[in-house]
Amino acid sequence: MERVECVVIGAGVVGLALARHLAQSGREVVVLEAEDRIGTGISSRNSEVIHAGIYYPAGSLKARLCVAGNRALYAYCEARQVNHRRCGKLIVATDDSQVEALRQLRLRAAANGVTDLQWLERDEALALEPRLQCTAALLSPSTGIVDSHGLMRSLGLEAAAAGASVVLKSPVLGGRATPQGLEVQVGGGEPMSLLARRVYNAAGMGAIPLARAFEGARPGSLPPLPRRFAKGNYFSLTGAAPFSRLVYPIPPLGALGVHLTLDLAGQARFGPDVEWIDTENYDVDPHRADSFYAEVRKYWPQLPEGALQPAYAGIRPKLHGPGEIPPDFLIQREADHGLPSLVNLLGIESPGLTACLALAEEAAR
Ligand SMILES: Cc1cc2nc3c(=O)[nH]c(=O)nc-3n(C[C@H](O)[C@H](O)[C@H](O)COP(=O)(O)OP(=O)(O)OC[C@H]3O[C@@H](n4cnc5c(N)ncnc54)[C@H](O)[C@@H]3O)c2cc1C
Repeated sequence: MERVECVVIGAGVVGLALARHLAQSGREVVVLEAEDRIGTGISSRNSEVIHAGIYYPAGSLKARLCVAGNRALYAYCEARQVNHRRCGKLIVATDDSQVEALRQLRLRAAANGVTDLQWLERDEALALEPRLQCTAALLSPSTGIVDSHGLMRSLGLEAAAAGASVVLKSPVLGGRATPQGLEVQVGGGEPMSLLARRVYNAAGMGAIPLARAFEGARPGSLPPLPRRFAKGNYFSLTGAAPFSRLVYPIPPLGALGVHLTLDLAGQARFGPDVEWIDTENYDVDPHRADSFYAEVRKYWPQLPEGALQPAYAGIRPKLHGPGEIPPDFLIQREADHGLPSLVNLLGIESPGLTACLALAEEAAR
């Protein structure tokens, strides 16, 4: 059986960042990816926003890794010419009843070390974005957007330059602990087994099923298989974008609300909403547009009828169900699940793209 030092399962933004980090630290790394290309999972179905770290509970991994990841990602994109823009965003209170929630967000952000938020009264916000409808707003100058595919390409190339191999069409089926390391069973066209000193499970939506397919974990130590999936739908805007910054509402529980994001070409899109579904599917139901018009018109009343077109959808790899408070990222090591050599990265939902470089350091530590 072939022996390798480190196996990373999954070539999404997190697995690629981890492979780069490990390879550049002198480790021998093999990345096993089920699909025939890198980055076809969650990392290609999101808002591509570089978050500032405003929303997450103080002291959580999400807060800490988002704030650290934000700085690391801007520095990385600037140094490697990965397309990105520090466009800023406005979080808006659309009536007086939301102003207190906006104040609470500012306090939460400060507790997370996000110190650059600016409070804007209505007139100040309208001076920046004249088409906006709001009572007050928070301006986050360190929020931006990034080309997630360009980022993954760059991370993959750097991992390879440092000696990592990325093996496509190689779905990992499971594994078991042996005295020599973790045996990893790989399916696909040419099934094989590898013996690894360290295995990092960064399989996105596949991470929980895969964690459960490794024999020998302590009973009760792994999250259950998800019974429902939190899909997020997007609609794109026909015509010119009304704003030059991202615009977010006050967040509902477990999501960030139907916000306006811009892509790097300046095209506006709205989403994601939250649709709990029983089986994974990525179709966008055009009828959901009705609720989008209602949500978006709270902060952009002039949204023309017929301007929204179904775009795409993503599914959040959540560790919780409808109505529950979202838990933190879960990075499980031997002490957590009892299996030597295995590190599971579970529940890596937003802000996982922003946090990818910081997550890689955290998981490798
Ligand atoms: C709707 C939505 C919007 C979001 N918006 C943002 C945002 O604006 N900003 C932000 O910071 N974050 C955002 N996120 C979160 C972010 O996209 C994710 O945290 C991040 O992309 C997760 O990357 P990953 O590498 O863990 O997963 P993935 O990109 O899914 O990569 C996992 C890889 O593992 C592979 N795989 C799965 N099972 C196996 C197996 N058994 N064997 C081998 N390979 C396997 C998959 O094919 C895939 O390539 C959003 C997420 C969603 C769903």
